[in-house]
Amino acid sequence: MEIRVENMLKQFKILKSLKARIFIIVFLIGMIPSMIIRYAILENYEDRAVNLRMSDVQNQLKIIANHLITYNYLHDTSSEVINAELEQLSNLYDGRVIIINSNLKVIKDTYAIGEGKTIITEEVIKCLKEGKGVSNYDKENGYIEMTTPIIEAKADEQSEEGNKKKDTVRGVMLTGVSTDNIMTTIDILSRKAMIMEILMLFIIFVIAFMLSKVLIRPFDRVTKAISEVKEGFTDEPVSVSDYLETEHIVDAFNQLVNRMKVLDNSRQEFVSNVSHELKTPITSMKVLADALLSQENVPEELYREFLVDIAEEIDREDKIINDLLALVKMDKKVSALNISVVDINALTEIILKRLRPIARKRDIEVIFESKRPVVAEVDEVKLTLVITNLVENAIKYNHEQGWVKVILDADYQFFTLEIMDSGIGIPEDSLEQIYERFYRVDKSHSREIGGTGLGLSIARNAVLMHRGSIKAFSVEGEGTTFTVKLPLNYVTA
Ligand code: ADP
Repeated sequence: MEIRVENMLKQFKILKSLKARIFIIVFLIGMIPSMIIRYAILENYEDRAVNLRMSDVQNQLKIIANHLITYNYLHDTSSEVINAELEQLSNLYDGRVIIINSNLKVIKDTYAIGEGKTIITEEVIKCLKEGKGVSNYDKENGYIEMTTPIIEAKADEQSEEGNKKKDTVRGVMLTGVSTDNIMTTIDILSRKAMIMEILMLFIIFVIAFMLSKVLIRPFDRVTKAISEVKEGFTDEPVSVSDYLETEHIVDAFNQLVNRMKVLDNSRQEFVSNVSHELKTPITSMKVLADALLSQENVPEELYREFLVDIAEEIDREDKIINDLLALVKMDKKVSALNISVVDINALTEIILKRLRPIARKRDIEVIFESKRPVVAEVDEVKLTLVITNLVENAIKYNHEQGWVKVILDADYQFFTLEIMDSGIGIPEDSLEQIYERFYRVDKSHSREIGGTGLGLSIARNAVLMHRGSIKAFSVEGEGTTFTVKLPLNYVTA
Protein backbone atom coordinates (compact mmCIF):
# COMPACT_ATOMS: atom_id res chain seq x y z
CA MET A 1 0.00 0.00 0.00
CA GLU A 2 2.70 2.45 1.07
CA ILE A 3 4.82 1.51 -1.92
CA ARG A 4 1.91 2.19 -4.22
CA VAL A 5 1.36 5.65 -2.72
CA GLU A 6 5.08 6.36 -3.06
CA ASN A 7 5.03 5.29 -6.69
CA MET A 8 2.04 7.51 -7.33
CA LEU A 9 3.83 10.47 -5.76
CA LYS A 10 6.87 9.72 -7.89
CA GLN A 11 4.70 9.72 -10.98
CA PHE A 12 3.22 13.06 -10.01
CA LYS A 13 6.57 14.52 -9.06
CA ILE A 14 6.24 16.79 -12.05
CA LEU A 15 3.45 18.56 -10.14
CA LYS A 16 6.08 19.80 -7.71
CA SER A 17 7.52 21.90 -10.48
CA LEU A 18 6.35 25.52 -10.41
CA LYS A 19 6.54 25.55 -14.19
CA ALA A 20 4.10 22.64 -14.44
CA ARG A 21 1.78 24.30 -11.95
CA ILE A 22 1.74 27.62 -13.81
CA PHE A 23 1.07 25.71 -17.02
CA ILE A 24 -1.83 23.78 -15.51
CA ILE A 25 -3.35 26.85 -13.82
CA VAL A 26 -3.20 29.02 -16.95
CA PHE A 27 -4.54 26.16 -19.04
CA LEU A 28 -7.46 25.52 -16.70
CA ILE A 29 -8.26 29.23 -16.35
CA GLY A 30 -8.38 29.42 -20.13
CA MET A 31 -10.33 26.23 -20.73
CA ILE A 32 -12.93 25.97 -17.99
CA PRO A 33 -14.79 29.24 -18.76
CA SER A 34 -14.99 28.47 -22.47
CA MET A 35 -16.42 25.03 -21.71
CA ILE A 36 -18.98 26.47 -19.29
CA ILE A 37 -20.00 29.14 -21.79
CA ARG A 38 -20.45 26.55 -24.55
CA TYR A 39 -22.61 24.38 -22.34
CA ALA A 40 -24.70 27.32 -21.10
CA ILE A 41 -25.29 28.72 -24.59
CA LEU A 42 -26.39 25.39 -26.05
CA GLU A 43 -28.66 24.64 -23.09
CA ASN A 44 -30.19 28.11 -23.32
CA TYR A 45 -30.70 27.82 -27.02
CA GLU A 46 -32.62 24.55 -26.62
CA ASP A 47 -34.96 26.04 -23.98
CA ARG A 48 -35.66 29.10 -26.04
CA ALA A 49 -36.21 27.21 -29.29
CA VAL A 50 -38.60 24.72 -27.65
CA ASN A 51 -40.61 27.48 -25.92
CA LEU A 52 -40.86 29.43 -29.15
CA ARG A 53 -42.02 26.34 -31.01
CA MET A 54 -44.62 25.63 -28.30
CA SER A 55 -46.16 29.09 -28.40
CA ASP A 56 -46.07 29.16 -32.24
CA VAL A 57 -47.89 25.89 -32.58
CA GLN A 58 -50.28 26.66 -29.70
CA ASN A 59 -51.29 29.95 -31.40
CA GLN A 60 -51.98 28.26 -34.68
CA LEU A 61 -53.89 25.50 -32.93
CA LYS A 62 -56.09 28.09 -31.22
CA ILE A 63 -56.95 29.62 -34.57
CA ILE A 64 -57.74 26.21 -36.02
CA ALA A 65 -59.81 25.38 -32.89
CA ASN A 66 -61.94 28.45 -33.60
CA HIS A 67 -62.31 27.40 -37.23
CA LEU A 68 -63.42 23.97 -36.10
CA ILE A 69 -66.40 25.54 -34.31
CA THR A 70 -67.13 27.92 -37.15
CA TYR A 71 -67.17 25.12 -39.72
CA ASN A 72 -68.98 22.77 -37.34
CA TYR A 73 -66.16 20.32 -37.99
CA LEU A 74 -66.91 18.30 -34.86
CA HIS A 75 -70.09 17.05 -36.53
CA ASP A 76 -68.91 17.00 -40.10
CA THR A 77 -65.23 16.37 -40.88
CA SER A 78 -65.54 16.91 -44.57
CA SER A 79 -64.58 20.60 -44.55
CA GLU A 80 -61.87 21.04 -47.17
CA VAL A 81 -60.63 24.25 -45.57
CA ILE A 82 -60.06 22.72 -42.15
CA ASN A 83 -58.54 19.53 -43.55
CA ALA A 84 -56.12 21.64 -45.57
CA GLU A 85 -55.25 23.72 -42.53
CA LEU A 86 -54.64 20.59 -40.44
CA GLU A 87 -52.56 19.05 -43.21
CA GLN A 88 -50.48 22.18 -43.56
CA LEU A 89 -49.86 22.38 -39.81
CA SER A 90 -48.78 18.77 -39.49
CA ASN A 91 -46.50 19.06 -42.52
CA LEU A 92 -44.98 22.30 -41.32
CA TYR A 93 -44.07 21.01 -37.89
CA ASP A 94 -43.67 17.37 -38.77
CA GLY A 95 -46.45 16.55 -36.35
CA ARG A 96 -49.71 14.76 -35.82
CA VAL A 97 -53.02 16.37 -34.90
CA ILE A 98 -55.83 14.35 -33.36
CA ILE A 99 -59.23 15.92 -32.84
CA ILE A 100 -61.31 14.43 -30.05
CA ASN A 101 -64.93 15.31 -29.40
CA SER A 102 -66.63 15.66 -26.04
CA ASN A 103 -67.28 11.90 -25.95
CA LEU A 104 -63.51 11.30 -26.09
CA LYS A 105 -63.84 9.87 -29.59
CA VAL A 106 -61.25 10.59 -32.23
CA ILE A 107 -63.03 12.25 -35.14
CA LYS A 108 -59.90 13.23 -37.06
CA ASP A 109 -56.31 12.01 -37.04
CA THR A 110 -53.86 13.50 -39.55
CA TYR A 111 -52.11 10.11 -39.51
CA ALA A 112 -55.54 8.55 -40.26
CA ILE A 113 -54.98 5.60 -37.96
CA GLY A 114 -56.84 6.52 -34.84
CA GLU A 115 -60.17 7.72 -36.18
CA GLY A 116 -63.17 6.22 -34.41
CA LYS A 117 -61.10 5.17 -31.41
CA THR A 118 -61.61 6.50 -27.92
CA ILE A 119 -58.78 8.32 -26.10
CA ILE A 120 -58.81 8.48 -22.35
CA THR A 121 -55.68 10.20 -21.08
CA GLU A 122 -55.29 12.44 -18.08
CA GLU A 123 -54.34 15.47 -20.17
CA VAL A 124 -57.27 15.10 -22.56
CA ILE A 125 -59.85 14.73 -19.75
CA LYS A 126 -58.32 17.64 -17.86
CA CYS A 127 -58.42 19.81 -20.97
CA LEU A 128 -62.07 18.88 -21.62
CA LYS A 129 -63.07 19.65 -18.05
CA GLU A 130 -61.09 22.82 -17.44
CA GLY A 131 -60.86 24.20 -20.94
CA LYS A 132 -57.16 24.83 -20.61
CA GLY A 133 -54.44 23.54 -22.89
CA VAL A 134 -51.09 22.24 -21.72
CA SER A 135 -47.76 21.68 -23.45
CA ASN A 136 -45.15 19.10 -22.48
CA TYR A 137 -41.66 18.70 -23.88
CA ASP A 138 -40.39 15.15 -24.03
CA LYS A 139 -36.67 15.74 -24.40
CA GLU A 140 -35.71 12.10 -24.63
CA ASN A 141 -37.99 11.26 -27.55
CA GLY A 142 -37.62 14.68 -29.15
CA TYR A 143 -41.20 15.90 -29.38
CA ILE A 144 -43.68 18.35 -27.84
CA GLU A 145 -47.16 17.15 -26.87
CA MET A 146 -49.95 19.68 -26.54
CA THR A 147 -53.63 19.70 -25.72
CA THR A 148 -55.82 22.55 -27.01
CA PRO A 149 -59.45 22.93 -25.98
CA ILE A 150 -62.02 23.49 -28.73
CA ILE A 151 -64.27 26.13 -27.17
CA GLU A 152 -67.63 27.33 -28.36
CA ALA A 153 -68.26 30.82 -27.11
CA LYS A 154 -71.96 31.70 -26.59
CA ALA A 155 -71.63 35.46 -26.99
CA ASP A 156 -75.42 36.03 -27.37
CA GLU A 157 -76.10 34.75 -23.88
CA GLN A 158 -73.83 37.30 -22.24
CA SER A 159 -74.68 38.09 -18.65
CA GLU A 160 -73.29 40.35 -16.01
CA GLU A 161 -71.01 37.64 -14.63
CA GLY A 162 -69.16 37.66 -17.93
CA ASN A 163 -69.32 35.31 -20.83
CA LYS A 164 -66.74 32.78 -19.68
CA LYS A 165 -69.30 30.69 -17.85
CA LYS A 166 -71.26 30.26 -21.00
CA ASP A 167 -68.27 28.91 -22.99
CA THR A 168 -68.53 25.21 -23.65
CA VAL A 169 -65.63 22.89 -24.33
CA ARG A 170 -66.72 20.90 -27.36
CA GLY A 171 -63.58 18.87 -27.84
CA VAL A 172 -59.81 18.67 -27.57
CA MET A 173 -57.02 18.84 -30.09
CA LEU A 174 -54.14 16.53 -29.14
CA THR A 175 -51.03 17.53 -31.05
CA GLY A 176 -47.54 16.16 -31.16
CA VAL A 177 -44.80 18.05 -32.95
CA SER A 178 -41.28 16.85 -33.52
CA THR A 179 -38.32 18.87 -32.24
CA ASP A 180 -35.89 17.07 -34.54
CA ASN A 181 -34.95 20.21 -36.44
CA ILE A 182 -34.19 22.03 -33.16
CA MET A 183 -31.90 19.14 -32.26
CA THR A 184 -30.27 19.31 -35.66
CA THR A 185 -29.55 22.99 -35.16
CA ILE A 186 -28.12 22.26 -31.71
CA ASP A 187 -25.96 19.50 -33.20
CA ILE A 188 -24.57 21.89 -35.80
CA LEU A 189 -24.00 24.61 -33.21
CA SER A 190 -22.34 22.16 -30.86
CA ARG A 191 -20.04 20.89 -33.59
CA LYS A 192 -19.03 24.43 -34.49
CA ALA A 193 -18.46 25.24 -30.81
CA MET A 194 -16.36 22.11 -30.49
CA ILE A 195 -14.15 23.17 -33.40
CA MET A 196 -13.79 26.62 -31.83
CA GLU A 197 -12.96 25.00 -28.54
CA ILE A 198 -10.28 22.76 -30.01
CA LEU A 199 -8.79 25.85 -31.63
CA MET A 200 -8.95 27.71 -28.31
CA LEU A 201 -7.44 24.68 -26.59
CA PHE A 202 -4.50 24.84 -28.93
CA ILE A 203 -4.05 28.60 -28.48
CA ILE A 204 -4.36 28.37 -24.68
CA PHE A 205 -1.94 25.45 -24.67
CA VAL A 206 0.65 27.54 -26.49
CA ILE A 207 0.03 30.57 -24.23
CA ALA A 208 0.23 28.44 -21.06
CA PHE A 209 3.41 26.81 -22.28
CA MET A 210 5.09 30.11 -23.14
CA LEU A 211 3.93 31.81 -19.95
CA SER A 212 5.14 29.00 -17.70
CA LYS A 213 8.49 29.14 -19.46
CA VAL A 214 8.86 32.92 -19.30
CA LEU A 215 7.63 33.29 -15.70
CA ILE A 216 10.02 30.67 -14.44
CA ARG A 217 13.07 32.05 -16.23
CA PRO A 218 14.24 34.37 -13.38
CA PHE A 219 14.30 31.36 -11.05
CA ASP A 220 16.49 29.50 -13.52
CA ARG A 221 18.74 32.54 -13.52
CA VAL A 222 18.90 32.46 -9.71
CA THR A 223 19.91 28.78 -9.79
CA LYS A 224 22.54 29.50 -12.44
CA ALA A 225 23.98 32.48 -10.56
CA ILE A 226 24.10 30.55 -7.28
CA SER A 227 25.74 27.60 -9.05
CA GLU A 228 28.41 29.92 -10.42
CA VAL A 229 29.22 31.14 -6.93
CA LYS A 230 29.14 27.57 -5.63
CA GLU A 231 31.53 26.34 -8.32
CA GLY A 232 33.82 29.21 -7.47
CA PHE A 233 33.66 30.97 -10.88
CA THR A 234 32.83 34.25 -9.26
CA ASP A 235 32.92 36.00 -5.92
CA GLU A 236 30.59 38.81 -6.96
CA PRO A 237 27.27 39.17 -5.13
CA VAL A 238 24.43 37.54 -7.08
CA SER A 239 21.76 39.84 -8.52
CA VAL A 240 18.46 38.75 -10.11
CA SER A 241 16.02 41.62 -9.68
CA ASP A 242 13.22 40.42 -12.03
CA TYR A 243 10.85 39.64 -9.18
CA LEU A 244 10.63 40.73 -5.57
CA GLU A 245 10.74 37.03 -4.69
CA THR A 246 13.96 36.36 -6.60
CA GLU A 247 15.42 39.49 -5.05
CA HIS A 248 14.61 38.12 -1.59
CA ILE A 249 16.15 34.74 -2.35
CA VAL A 250 19.25 36.33 -3.80
CA ASP A 251 19.55 38.76 -0.86
CA ALA A 252 19.34 35.89 1.59
CA PHE A 253 21.93 33.99 -0.42
CA ASN A 254 24.30 36.96 -0.54
CA GLN A 255 23.95 37.41 3.20
CA LEU A 256 24.76 33.73 3.68
CA VAL A 257 27.84 34.05 1.48
CA ASN A 258 28.96 37.13 3.40
CA ARG A 259 28.48 35.34 6.69
CA MET A 260 30.50 32.44 5.43
CA LYS A 261 33.24 34.82 4.30
CA VAL A 262 33.32 36.44 7.74
CA LEU A 263 33.42 33.02 9.39
CA ASP A 264 36.16 31.91 7.05
CA ASN A 265 38.19 35.04 7.76
CA SER A 266 37.77 34.72 11.51
CA ARG A 267 38.73 31.06 11.31
CA GLN A 268 41.88 31.92 9.40
CA GLU A 269 42.67 34.67 11.87
CA PHE A 270 42.05 32.29 14.75
CA VAL A 271 44.35 29.66 13.28
CA SER A 272 47.10 32.20 12.72
CA ASN A 273 46.63 33.58 16.26
CA VAL A 274 46.75 30.10 17.75
CA SER A 275 49.92 29.28 15.84
CA HIS A 276 51.50 32.51 16.96
CA GLU A 277 50.53 32.03 20.61
CA LEU A 278 51.75 28.44 20.64
CA LYS A 279 54.98 29.41 18.93
CA THR A 280 55.95 32.07 21.45
CA PRO A 281 56.75 29.73 24.39
CA ILE A 282 58.50 27.33 22.00
CA THR A 283 60.66 30.15 20.67
CA SER A 284 61.56 31.15 24.24
CA MET A 285 62.46 27.57 25.08
CA LYS A 286 64.58 27.29 21.95
CA VAL A 287 66.42 30.50 22.81
CA LEU A 288 67.05 29.29 26.39
CA ALA A 289 68.22 25.86 25.24
CA ASP A 290 70.44 27.32 22.53
CA ALA A 291 72.00 29.69 25.05
CA LEU A 292 72.92 26.76 27.28
CA LEU A 293 74.20 24.66 24.40
CA SER A 294 76.37 27.41 22.97
CA GLN A 295 78.34 27.74 26.21
CA GLU A 296 80.81 25.30 27.57
CA ASN A 297 81.30 24.44 31.22
CA VAL A 298 78.05 26.08 32.21
CA PRO A 299 77.71 26.31 35.99
CA GLU A 300 74.99 24.18 37.49
CA GLU A 301 73.11 27.19 38.90
CA LEU A 302 72.73 28.62 35.39
CA TYR A 303 71.39 25.27 34.15
CA ARG A 304 68.91 25.28 36.99
CA GLU A 305 67.89 28.88 36.35
CA PHE A 306 67.37 28.25 32.60
CA LEU A 307 65.50 25.03 33.23
CA VAL A 308 63.15 26.84 35.63
CA ASP A 309 62.46 29.32 32.81
CA ILE A 310 61.91 26.49 30.35
CA ALA A 311 59.50 24.78 32.80
CA GLU A 312 57.58 28.08 33.08
CA GLU A 313 57.26 28.26 29.31
CA ILE A 314 56.01 24.68 29.23
CA ASP A 315 53.38 25.61 31.85
CA ARG A 316 52.32 28.52 29.67
CA GLU A 317 52.03 26.32 26.61
CA ASP A 318 49.97 23.90 28.69
CA LYS A 319 47.65 26.68 29.86
CA ILE A 320 47.11 27.96 26.33
CA ILE A 321 46.30 24.46 25.10
CA ASN A 322 43.89 23.87 27.98
CA ASP A 323 42.13 27.18 27.37
CA LEU A 324 41.89 26.41 23.66
CA LEU A 325 40.39 23.02 24.39
CA ALA A 326 37.83 24.61 26.72
CA LEU A 327 36.93 27.11 24.01
CA VAL A 328 36.67 24.54 21.24
CA LYS A 329 34.46 22.37 23.42
CA MET A 330 32.09 25.29 23.86
CA ASP A 331 32.14 26.15 20.17
CA LYS A 332 30.52 22.87 19.37
CA LYS A 333 26.89 23.91 19.65
CA VAL A 334 25.84 20.27 20.01
CA SER A 335 27.80 19.93 23.23
CA ALA A 336 24.63 20.23 25.26
CA LEU A 337 24.87 21.83 28.64
CA ASN A 338 25.03 19.49 31.58
CA ILE A 339 22.29 21.21 33.54
CA SER A 340 21.75 20.55 37.25
CA VAL A 341 20.34 22.46 40.17
CA VAL A 342 23.26 24.33 41.73
CA ASP A 343 23.56 26.34 44.95
CA ILE A 344 25.20 29.44 43.47
CA ASN A 345 26.19 30.86 46.90
CA ALA A 346 28.10 27.69 47.79
CA LEU A 347 29.69 27.47 44.34
CA THR A 348 30.93 31.09 44.51
CA GLU A 349 32.31 30.52 48.00
CA ILE A 350 34.30 27.47 46.83
CA ILE A 351 35.76 29.34 43.85
CA LEU A 352 36.71 32.36 45.93
CA LYS A 353 38.30 30.11 48.52
CA ARG A 354 40.46 28.60 45.80
CA LEU A 355 41.50 32.00 44.43
CA ARG A 356 42.11 33.84 47.72
CA PRO A 357 45.69 32.50 48.14
CA ILE A 358 46.63 34.06 44.78
CA ALA A 359 45.06 37.35 45.83
CA ARG A 360 46.77 37.24 49.17
CA LYS A 361 50.15 37.14 47.43
CA ARG A 362 49.48 40.69 46.24
CA ASP A 363 47.62 41.70 49.35
CA ILE A 364 44.31 41.92 47.55
CA GLU A 365 41.12 41.48 49.55
CA VAL A 366 38.40 39.31 48.05
CA ILE A 367 34.90 40.01 49.43
CA PHE A 368 31.74 38.03 48.76
CA GLU A 369 28.43 39.78 49.29
CA SER A 370 25.34 37.64 48.87
CA LYS A 371 22.02 39.46 48.84
CA ARG A 372 19.99 36.22 49.03
CA PRO A 373 20.41 32.47 48.68
CA VAL A 374 20.31 31.57 44.99
CA VAL A 375 19.64 28.15 43.53
CA ALA A 376 19.63 27.90 39.74
CA GLU A 377 19.61 25.39 36.89
CA VAL A 378 23.07 25.73 35.34
CA ASP A 379 25.98 23.74 34.00
CA GLU A 380 28.19 23.76 37.09
CA VAL A 381 31.49 23.23 35.26
CA LYS A 382 30.84 26.02 32.75
CA LEU A 383 29.60 28.48 35.38
CA THR A 384 32.74 27.70 37.40
CA LEU A 385 34.80 28.67 34.33
CA VAL A 386 32.90 31.98 34.09
CA ILE A 387 33.31 32.96 37.74
CA THR A 388 36.92 31.76 37.93
CA ASN A 389 37.98 33.67 34.81
CA LEU A 390 36.30 36.90 35.89
CA VAL A 391 37.61 36.83 39.47
CA GLU A 392 41.07 35.77 38.25
CA ASN A 393 41.10 38.77 35.90
CA ALA A 394 39.92 41.06 38.70
CA ILE A 395 42.90 39.87 40.78
CA LYS A 396 45.38 39.84 37.86
CA TYR A 397 44.62 43.34 36.63
CA ASN A 398 44.53 44.86 40.11
CA HIS A 399 46.91 46.99 42.13
CA GLU A 400 48.72 45.75 45.19
CA GLN A 401 46.46 46.04 48.26
CA GLY A 402 43.44 46.43 46.06
CA TRP A 403 40.07 44.73 46.50
CA VAL A 404 37.75 42.45 44.56
CA LYS A 405 34.07 42.30 45.40
CA VAL A 406 31.61 39.67 44.20
CA ILE A 407 27.92 40.51 44.65
CA LEU A 408 25.26 37.86 44.10
CA ASP A 409 21.61 38.85 43.72
CA ALA A 410 18.45 37.49 42.08
CA ASP A 411 14.92 38.41 41.08
CA TYR A 412 12.15 35.97 40.24
CA GLN A 413 13.60 35.19 36.78
CA PHE A 414 17.33 35.89 36.77
CA PHE A 415 20.30 35.93 39.06
CA THR A 416 23.18 38.38 38.66
CA LEU A 417 26.82 38.14 39.61
CA GLU A 418 28.73 41.40 39.80
CA ILE A 419 32.52 41.13 39.89
CA MET A 420 34.02 44.51 40.82
CA ASP A 421 37.65 45.38 41.22
CA SER A 422 39.81 48.35 42.12
CA GLY A 423 42.22 47.54 39.30
CA ILE A 424 43.75 49.21 36.30
CA GLY A 425 40.50 49.36 34.31
CA ILE A 426 39.92 48.87 30.60
CA PRO A 427 40.15 51.73 28.07
CA GLU A 428 36.73 52.53 26.59
CA ASP A 429 37.69 51.71 23.02
CA SER A 430 38.81 48.24 24.09
CA LEU A 431 35.62 47.37 25.95
CA GLU A 432 34.03 45.99 22.76
CA GLN A 433 37.00 43.79 21.91
CA ILE A 434 37.93 42.17 25.20
CA TYR A 435 35.78 39.10 24.44
CA GLU A 436 37.64 38.38 21.20
CA ARG A 437 39.94 35.42 21.23
CA PHE A 438 43.51 36.37 22.07
CA TYR A 439 42.62 40.03 22.54
CA ARG A 440 44.59 41.70 25.29
CA VAL A 441 44.67 45.38 26.11
CA ASP A 442 48.35 45.22 26.96
CA LYS A 443 49.82 42.13 25.37
CA SER A 444 53.13 42.06 27.15
CA HIS A 445 51.64 42.87 30.55
CA SER A 446 49.00 40.15 30.17
CA ARG A 447 51.64 37.63 29.12
CA GLU A 448 53.79 38.60 32.02
CA ILE A 449 51.03 37.78 34.46
CA GLY A 450 50.19 34.55 32.68
CA GLY A 451 47.20 35.58 30.54
CA THR A 452 46.31 33.83 27.32
CA GLY A 453 43.68 36.26 25.98
CA LEU A 454 41.12 33.45 25.95
CA GLY A 455 39.58 33.77 29.42
CA LEU A 456 36.82 36.26 28.54
CA SER A 457 35.97 34.40 25.28
CA ILE A 458 35.43 31.27 27.30
CA ALA A 459 33.37 33.15 29.89
CA ARG A 460 31.18 34.86 27.30
CA ASN A 461 30.54 31.63 25.37
CA ALA A 462 29.52 29.85 28.55
CA VAL A 463 27.14 32.70 29.49
CA LEU A 464 25.56 32.78 26.03
CA MET A 465 25.03 29.02 26.11
CA HIS A 466 22.95 29.59 29.25
CA ARG A 467 20.99 32.30 27.36
CA GLY A 468 22.42 34.92 29.67
CA SER A 469 24.31 38.17 29.16
CA ILE A 470 27.66 39.59 30.20
CA LYS A 471 28.49 43.30 30.37
CA ALA A 472 31.58 45.22 31.35
CA PHE A 473 31.75 48.69 32.85
CA SER A 474 35.10 50.25 33.48
CA VAL A 475 36.86 53.49 34.36
CA GLU A 476 40.51 53.44 33.46
CA GLY A 477 42.73 53.59 36.53
CA GLU A 478 39.79 53.13 38.90
CA GLY A 479 38.45 49.66 38.30
CA THR A 480 36.16 47.38 36.35
CA THR A 481 32.77 45.78 36.96
CA PHE A 482 31.62 42.71 35.04
CA THR A 483 27.90 41.92 35.35
CA VAL A 484 26.72 38.41 34.46
CA LYS A 485 22.97 37.84 34.24
CA LEU A 486 21.68 34.29 33.94
CA PRO A 487 18.20 32.76 34.00
CA LEU A 488 17.31 30.85 37.15
CA ASN A 489 15.60 28.15 35.11
CA TYR A 490 17.18 26.77 31.99
CA VAL A 491 14.74 26.67 29.09
CA THR A 492 15.53 24.60 26.03
CA ALA A 493 14.82 26.24 22.67
P1 ADP B 1 43.82 37.25 29.63
O1 ADP B 1 44.14 35.83 29.66
O2 ADP B 1 44.83 38.07 28.91
O3 ADP B 1 43.42 37.79 30.93
P2 ADP B 1 41.05 37.62 28.97
O4 ADP B 1 40.28 37.20 27.78
O5 ADP B 1 40.63 37.08 30.27
O6 ADP B 1 42.56 37.33 28.66
O7 ADP B 1 40.99 39.18 29.02
C1 ADP B 1 41.26 39.94 27.87
C2 ADP B 1 41.86 41.27 28.21
O8 ADP B 1 40.89 42.10 28.85
C3 ADP B 1 42.96 41.18 29.21
O9 ADP B 1 44.19 40.97 28.55
C4 ADP B 1 42.94 42.53 29.89
O10 ADP B 1 43.67 43.45 29.13
C5 ADP B 1 41.49 42.92 29.84
N1 ADP B 1 40.80 42.66 31.14
C6 ADP B 1 40.04 41.61 31.44
N2 ADP B 1 39.55 41.71 32.70
C7 ADP B 1 40.01 42.87 33.19
C8 ADP B 1 39.87 43.56 34.45
N3 ADP B 1 39.12 43.05 35.44
N4 ADP B 1 40.49 44.73 34.58
C9 ADP B 1 41.24 45.25 33.60
N5 ADP B 1 41.42 44.65 32.41
C10 ADP B 1 40.82 43.47 32.18
